[in-house]
Amino acid sequence: MTFAKLNLSTPILDAVSELGYETPTAIQEKAIPAILSGRDLIATAQTGTGKTAGFVLPILERLSGERKRRAKRLRALILVPTRELAIQVEASIVQYGKHLNVISMAMYGGVDSEPQKQQLIDGIDILVATPGRLLDMVHQRALHFDELEVLVLDEADRMLDMGFIGDINKIIDRLPEHRQNLLFSATMPEGVRSLAERAIDNPVEVSIEDNRESTPQISQWVVSVDKDNKSTLLSHLIKEHEWTQALIFIRTKHGAAKLVGQLEKRGINAESIHSGRSQAVRTQILADFKSGKIGLLVATGIAARGIDIDELTRVVNYDLPDDADDYIHRIGRTGRAGACGEAVSLVSMDDFKRLCAIERRLDQIIERKNIEGFITKKELPVSNLNFVSKGAVTRKPSEGKQDKSRAKAKGAKAGSKPTNRPQKSSESSSAAKSDADNPWLRNRKK
Ligand code: AMP
Repeated sequence: MTFAKLNLSTPILDAVSELGYETPTAIQEKAIPAILSGRDLIATAQTGTGKTAGFVLPILERLSGERKRRAKRLRALILVPTRELAIQVEASIVQYGKHLNVISMAMYGGVDSEPQKQQLIDGIDILVATPGRLLDMVHQRALHFDELEVLVLDEADRMLDMGFIGDINKIIDRLPEHRQNLLFSATMPEGVRSLAERAIDNPVEVSIEDNRESTPQISQWVVSVDKDNKSTLLSHLIKEHEWTQALIFIRTKHGAAKLVGQLEKRGINAESIHSGRSQAVRTQILADFKSGKIGLLVATGIAARGIDIDELTRVVNYDLPDDADDYIHRIGRTGRAGACGEAVSLVSMDDFKRLCAIERRLDQIIERKNIEGFITKKELPVSNLNFVSKGAVTRKPSEGKQDKSRAKAKGAKAGSKPTNRPQKSSESSSAAKSDADNPWLRNRKK
């Protein structure tokens, strides 16, 4: 399959080819014809599958004809969960639409709304927005939806997790009845299904969760470490393994600032991104990280949501997230569009319950490595895939069909003993579970 066969016009094909895309990804192959036909669409697709181009390219095709722009009106609305994702999706529109006369805008909270209002008055075609700020603008009569043709709900599960359902419903209530609706979500829990029922009309459904070609190839490993030794170990790994690029997740903004100081003392340059920094600084740091000017970026989970860096090679969990699904989202920053990635977690005793919850969510014991010279005072216990943490959040089996298959797979191996004693770094994992059942691991390089 080629992009040319997808019935996209030359300006779009040129932009795609200038970006070096040779063939459409699985989601693009399925979604683009459906969207071009004018149908509504529900797509199960994770970040890293090329889903953004999957909806942006056909929207650009639809909007590419000359038409007079009216103040405060828009033709396509893309709702996203975070400001970082808004910036990133809008940047993709600019890239894919560079040979077209289409004007896009990213709109999100936490910044002055006046320039955003002015941009709306000047006239736009495509708006990428977070629900809260969008609703504020609607209430202030800064924009009207009477010319809206397409609605996209991107990362719908994430938006629901973040509590945006009320805002989304209020927005949908104000949209014209005749419009095209596209919903993208990494998972399809009940909440997303009912949102789809409300917003979407007789959709084409596509799912690429079982497509091996588009599955990220991520090598995951864990190092057991005492809490007070984490920054020394991280410095060691950065120097010893010559890590020039890594997105390092940490729990708190104070921790982020402290870690950057500790790394700098050891001669390692790093930057941090967290809620304590202004939006302008965060945007600049993200741009510098994206361009490679900054190699090591320490980020709190919220600040790093939605970061899209081509060829991000490595994600480090300095602290593990509380939510097992957040781990999956984090490691999804790497290994995108067929590239290989590495996800390394520094796990102390405090993190152990979280590790167990994550392994349970993945249905996979993550490989452990010993790093020479780093002996822990308290060795991490052997993982128990059946361990259920009271504190950690795990998904209920009713929340998605992925979970049903995982539950089935787990039942099949009942009675097998966890066998993940720390291993030498050259050895592959002795994980009890077959990689083939795990979308995140089955393409992993040995
Ligand atoms: P997404 O899933 O939309 O976040 O996209 C993941 C990454 O894949 C982005 O960095 C895109 O630039 C890249 N990408 C999207 N489509 C293609 C394609 N057809 N070929 C190569 N890379 C792509």
